[in-house]
Amino acid sequence: MNYYSLNKQAPNTTFKNAVIKGLAPDKGLYFPESITPLPKSFFENIDNLSNSEIAFEAIKQFVSPEIPEDVLKTIVKETLSFDFPVVKLDDSISTLELFHGPTMAFKDVGARFMARCLGYFNTNNTNEVTVLVATSGDTGGAVANGFLGVKGVNVVILYPSGKVSDIQEMQLTTLGQNIKALEVNGTFDDCQAMVKTAFLDEELTSNMQLTSANSINVARWLPQMFYFMFAYKQLHNTYDDIVFSVPSGNFGNVCAGMMAQQLGLPIKHFVASNNVNNVVTRYLKSQLYEPKPSIQTISNAMDVGAPSNFIRIQEIYKNKFESLKENVSSYSFTDDETRAAILEIYNTYNYVADPHGAVGYLGSKAYLKENPKAHCVFLETAHPTKFLDVVEEVIKEKQPLPEQIQSVMGREKVSEVISRYEDLKGFLLG
Ligand SMILES: *Cc1c(COP(=O)(O)O)cnc(C)c1O
Repeated sequence: MNYYSLNKQAPNTTFKNAVIKGLAPDKGLYFPESITPLPKSFFENIDNLSNSEIAFEAIKQFVSPEIPEDVLKTIVKETLSFDFPVVKLDDSISTLELFHGPTMAFKDVGARFMARCLGYFNTNNTNEVTVLVATSGDTGGAVANGFLGVKGVNVVILYPSGKVSDIQEMQLTTLGQNIKALEVNGTFDDCQAMVKTAFLDEELTSNMQLTSANSINVARWLPQMFYFMFAYKQLHNTYDDIVFSVPSGNFGNVCAGMMAQQLGLPIKHFVASNNVNNVVTRYLKSQLYEPKPSIQTISNAMDVGAPSNFIRIQEIYKNKFESLKENVSSYSFTDDETRAAILEIYNTYNYVADPHGAVGYLGSKAYLKENPKAHCVFLETAHPTKFLDVVEEVIKEKQPLPEQIQSVMGREKVSEVISRYEDLKGFLLG
């Protein structure tokens, strides 16, 4: 598959190049040249397919011929070595748990897939790359874990000092080997700005191949289609109108769901659930796209003022506002509403949700008010213990720590503190 730049000022390129470069030379996001729907029989027969078989069929057209089929089968199988259960809360609402991977957030899926693709492309030691990534919390851990020990890949993670949870910080600062953590005196926006400056810095880029592992990278973004299909498999015999409520920040996850829909997955509608960083909620109301600086919330992975994947969403719906509106609703919720939702979910269903999942739950409720016949699945994008302070304070009960979390506690944190872009540059060149 070839990819074009959504800025339309750069030549089309291969999957391999799109992954290694991250962003097109004109700074546009890459988008596949074509999307061929899977045959109807694939979805009719989905009960008989394993997760790996479903994922293989879904991603094949986007990575061939550069990744041969036998290699792809292995990559997919290794990526998906954990469960993706749908938990039914009642007849209208379920949750898709995306936190059973090694760092307990959905980003494990994309990070593990992308790491294996880069590893394959570097089999002959000809494509050494440095993955440079800014994180508001979960990306860093997933990327650190997914890329640990991958030959020919160095990983540099920038995170805002004091603004990620303790567990998130442990996950990205304690692994060592090819993973380096830089603790930035500043906000997530500052981290992201430094990364962007680095990508534009010719003195750097002529010295090393830099790529990103955010959802702008097609190898991070596209595998996120998989679990929408896994959820469909678990629900389609019981419910007709399946709607996904996706807690959204950079909109990579919901945009991947839309790609699954383009492949023919019978999804009735999407709900993009936002915290107060609600540029898309406002856009769907006013048709005015007005990014703003991000505001800090308790669902910090969604504190994004200018979602990078929105441009891909517009491309999927051919830049037609009406067709976007037909397929997507969006709602925005405050931290107080989110806390109340965590408590309501706990009291009503005896289920512990994290703040992001709780925003997804609120989006489901809002949608169901107007569409009572739908079955809404909200994505539980991270395990509640990754946000232990908030969750325990709200439900007033201690939470047991899962094995994945316990295993990073008490390890030695190794990070370097930086304040300015020059510090990052010096680090990369040094
Ligand atoms: C990254 C993240 C999100 C937002 O996902 P996008 O793809 O950026 O929209 C939501 N919840 C959690 C827990 C995350 O880590």
